[in-house]
Amino acid sequence: MKSLQKRILQEAVVVSPEVLKLDALLNHQVDPALIMEMGTVFAERFGEERVTKVMTIESSGIAVAFAVALQLKVPMVFARRKKTLTTDQDSWCERVPSFTKGIVTDIMVSKQFLNASDRILLIDDIIANGDAARGIIRIIERSGAELVGLGVVVEKTFQAGARTIREQGIRVESLVRITSLEGGSITFE
Ligand code: 5GP
Repeated sequence: MKSLQKRILQEAVVVSPEVLKLDALLNHQVDPALIMEMGTVFAERFGEERVTKVMTIESSGIAVAFAVALQLKVPMVFARRKKTLTTDQDSWCERVPSFTKGIVTDIMVSKQFLNASDRILLIDDIIANGDAARGIIRIIERSGAELVGLGVVVEKTFQAGARTIREQGIRVESLVRITSLEGGSITFE
């Protein structure tokens, strides 16, 4: 997605050789027009897959997943990261390490919103080691639903996440692929 590459070059900040800050367009402030364009691209790529639900993890995946779900005319479900007073007792839970926070968090999805008959498109903002995606993939597998694929906005190809998920036989589509952040500069594939 050329428009996204351009925006990343203009607005992203390289924090370290591993981490790219995308607060200006994805992780803090969001640009609705750009997000809707992402939704259209993912909806086109997975349009033949008879998706019944789009899933993501709070919070940064929500805007993009919403845009995809709107295009595909299906509901969007986001996994919650914390138990709240209103958390359904009947939930699927998985423990995942958090790349940016350096801690372990529990993610959960109410069984009410994930059925064995569902065909799920999983959407996430950035993939690094793939722990967050693998956590939700385990929840989808346990529910008996079918995962049709994973769409990520930014794939950092120098980290193992997307590759290992593809090796599991899962289709992974990314909008931009970054091969390096070395020396403070962003290199696209
Ligand atoms: P993973 O579980 O694949 O290691 O990391 C995925 C999650 O960590 C993403 O949902 C994303 O929010 C966050 N993350 C991973 N790498 C980066 C990065 O370079 N920049 C930012 N802003 N977030 C990241």
